[in-house]
Amino acid sequence: MADKPIVLMPEDVQRVIGKDAQRNNIFAAKMVAEIVKTTLGPKGMDKMLVSPTNDIIITNDGVTILNEMEIEHPAAKMMVEIAQTQESEVGDGTTTAVMITGKLLENAEKLLDKKIHPTVIARGYRMAADKCQEFLKEIAIKISPEDEETLKQIAMTAMTGKGAEDAKEKFADIIVKAVKQVQEGKDIDIDNIKIEKVKGEGISDTELISGIVFDKERVSYDMPLSVENAKIALIDFPLELKSPEIDAKLSISSPEQLQSFIAQEEAAIKSMIERVKASGANVVFCQKGIDDFAQYLLAKAGIYACRRVSRSDMEKISKATGGKIVSNLNELTSNELGTADRVEEVKHGEDRLTYVRGCKNPKAVTILIHGGTEHVIDEIERALKDGLGDVVCSLKSEMIVQGGGAIEIELAKRLREFSRELSGREQLAVEEFASALEFIPATLAENAGMDPIDVLTELKSRHDSGEINAGLNLFTNNIEDVLESKIIEPLKIKSQAINSATEVAIMILRIDDVIASSGDKSKNSNEKREF
Ligand code: ADP
Ligand code: MG
Repeated sequence: MADKPIVLMPEDVQRVIGKDAQRNNIFAAKMVAEIVKTTLGPKGMDKMLVSPTNDIIITNDGVTILNEMEIEHPAAKMMVEIAQTQESEVGDGTTTAVMITGKLLENAEKLLDKKIHPTVIARGYRMAADKCQEFLKEIAIKISPEDEETLKQIAMTAMTGKGAEDAKEKFADIIVKAVKQVQEGKDIDIDNIKIEKVKGEGISDTELISGIVFDKERVSYDMPLSVENAKIALIDFPLELKSPEIDAKLSISSPEQLQSFIAQEEAAIKSMIERVKASGANVVFCQKGIDDFAQYLLAKAGIYACRRVSRSDMEKISKATGGKIVSNLNELTSNELGTADRVEEVKHGEDRLTYVRGCKNPKAVTILIHGGTEHVIDEIERALKDGLGDVVCSLKSEMIVQGGGAIEIELAKRLREFSRELSGREQLAVEEFASALEFIPATLAENAGMDPIDVLTELKSRHDSGEINAGLNLFTNNIEDVLESKIIEPLKIKSQAINSATEVAIMILRIDDVIASSGDKSKNSNEKREF
């Protein structure tokens, strides 16, 4: 019995244990950080991603790059998740978060080489991260939500170096206006800012519409092209007769019978449209279909109508115009109608869009991006979303920090001071944590063609002499007070990035055994192909 082999796992399971597992994971994480590194900051470069179907994305956005790369390595995938969390929690700072994680792991490797146990490193990192949150609270600066200038600066910092750079002042203005418009107390739902895109004209023609723009045309060309003082009915049932659930057979033996049948149907539709007219509506947005006869009647009544408007657009129009979505024609009265100065159809190239403009105090608005090509428009959209995310974040917490690497240097400095109070090996881990943070300003400098070591040395000495706000201004390539030059970011970007970077770095460090069953692997690759 002693000779009998004990089989724990199937043969095709791949297992990597101990140091090898650790090193592999750290290597993969470092590679991911390396990939996004060159895009960091205002002087960062873009990447061109080409999909198997030859779709092209040109972007500078960390999370977009990682999402498109179809990364397979499990540890590397965890890095991608960090970027995704950062994107959903803050909407910006994805490159920073991934880079800090990569550097934390790279530095941990040095400690592993010195035979420091991973759990000790993990403990040191945890202490350092907690301290960072304390320091961040001390350093962060309170802003007033009324201070629109500062909010604009935050949006501009977020957009520097992206495709939106050329018109960033205008975009910042649009972003702040949009956010303020949809804000309800402390509540800001970014979904109420619709982003719609049209090809043609330049990016500086991008506009904020106090209302909703959606890609539906009026249902019949006999309808007016535009309606002033719009009274809008929002209907989520079809303006057509229900087709019978089961196949019905109709036997008609005389032309009169047919006539009367058609007349009955027409009468039913007529009465529907009469009700719409009676409510006083001159615009109808219908979530379902509108049949030919109903279209004819609506057009005859001078009513502008769109059909098959998406639910999310219906909801946004309702928020913007104050109209109520009705599910039953009997409910439709003038009280349920939304109002807008004008509803019109506008043609952009091949596309026809419906504009609902001039809503009074709308709680949903549209940013209409114009741009020469799809790639330009898409990158502008990503930049705008970064700006929107940062402004919303700053309004929610009312706290900002110094950008241009200043905050990272200050945190590193304070961490080093803190580490001196520690005894034992955690001290080394806290020091490595500090140097991982310094990787951000060093990379900002490197990407701008400056010498990272010179920049880092000067930044550190300025902070040592008490200049908390000394950072790198990449407009002038000077080290200066970045608060004065208005390079500012929301606190949440940094606190979130440091938190998730630490968590994932620790998680990866603690793995000393990777068991990969190949059965799963083939399943995964199948999923990939389908995707
Ligand atoms: P992320 O995906 O992390 O947001 P970005 O490419 O947007 O990466 O770069 C953000 C970094 O660029 C931040 O550290 C920010 O402080 C810095 N930054 C932004 N504008 C400037 C500037 N004018 N000068 C120096 N650094 C800047
Ligand atoms: Mg950014």
